[in-house]
Amino acid sequence: AKARGRNGYRFYSPSMTGEGVERLRLEAWLRRSLEKDEMFLNYQPQVEIDTGRLVGVEALVRWNHPELGLVSPARFIPLAEDTGFISQLGEWVLAEACRQMVRWQAAGLAVPKIAVNLSVRQFERGTIVATVDRILRATGLEPRRLQLEVTESVIMNTGDARTYINGLHDLGVGLAIDDFGTGYSSLAYLKQMPVQTLKIDRSFIQDIHQDANDEAIAIAIIQLGKSMNLSVIAEGVETDEQAAFLLRHGCNLAQGYFYSRPVMPDDLLRRWLP
Ligand code: C2E
Ligand code: CA
Ligand code: CA
Ligand code: CA
Repeated sequence: AKARGRNGYRFYSPSMTGEGVERLRLEAWLRRSLEKDEMFLNYQPQVEIDTGRLVGVEALVRWNHPELGLVSPARFIPLAEDTGFISQLGEWVLAEACRQMVRWQAAGLAVPKIAVNLSVRQFERGTIVATVDRILRATGLEPRRLQLEVTESVIMNTGDARTYINGLHDLGVGLAIDDFGTGYSSLAYLKQMPVQTLKIDRSFIQDIHQDANDEAIAIAIIQLGKSMNLSVIAEGVETDEQAAFLLRHGCNLAQGYFYSRPVMPDDLLRRWLP
C-alpha cells in the first residue's frame, strides 16, 4: 500500500539559465514531445473510503525529457496552454487514457471509470464534443466509463460553455468540477449544468485539522454536493485522519497519497487485480 519512495521521480525545475531563454527552449521541446514519444500517463486510484474499493482512476500526464528528466505538469501544462499545444496534447491524453481503459478491461481489471482533465483552452476551438465522440468511437470505450474534469473557469468563462457541457453530457460521459472552491462559480449556474461530481481541492484537505476555515469549507462543499445530489470526492488525502474526517462528514470518496500515488498502468493492475 505504501508508495515506493517518491515514486522514483525527481521533477525538473527551472532557474539554471535565464527565465526567458529557458522558456523558449522548453516551448520548442514541448512542441516535439509527442512525436518523440516523451509523454506518458500515470493513473491515480480513486477509492471508496469505508470499503477501500477502487471506483475510478485519474489520468495525469507526465513528460519525460531526455535531458531534463521529468518535467512537472504544473510547469508544462500552463506553457502548453499559452502556446496552444494543449489541444494536441489534450487530445493525445484523452485517446491514451481511453485506450488504457480498454487494455485494462482486456487484462481482466474492470476499472469502473477514468477521469481525464480538460483545460479551458480545449473548449475554445468549439470542437471538443466532436473530438471526445471521435475518440470514444475509435477506442470503443463506453462513454459512461469516462469522466471529464473541468475547472470552474470552464463553467463560468467560456462563452459557449453551456452548449459544450450539454453536448458532452449528451454523449453519455460524466462531468466533474475539479479544484472546486478555488475558483468562482455561481451556484445558480452550477445547478443548471449536467455535472455529477464535485472534487474538493487538495488545498482544503491539506490542513483540515489545523485550519478551522479549511474544515468549514470542506464541510460546506460536502453539504452543497449532498443538497444538489452530486457526488463529492476529496483530492490530496494523505492521512488516515483526513479520510476519517471526510467519512464522518459524509464524503465517502477520496484520492490521494494515503491510498496511492499516481502510478504506471502495470502497477495499478498488480495492486488492484482481484
Ligand atoms: P489536479 O487535476 O488537481 O491533479 C491532482 C494533482 O495532485 C496531481 O498532480 C497529483 O499527482 C497530486 N496529488 C494527488 N494526491 C496527492 C496527495 O495526496 N498529496 C499531494 N501533495 N499531491 C497529490 P500532478 O500530476 O503534478 O498534476 C498537477 C496538475 O496538472 C493537475 O492538478 C492538473 O491541473 C494538471 N494536469 C495533469 N495532467 C493533466 C492533463 O492530462 N491535462 C490537463 N489539462 N491538465 C493536467
Ligand atoms: Ca484533476
Ligand atoms: Ca486541476
Ligand atoms: Ca487540485
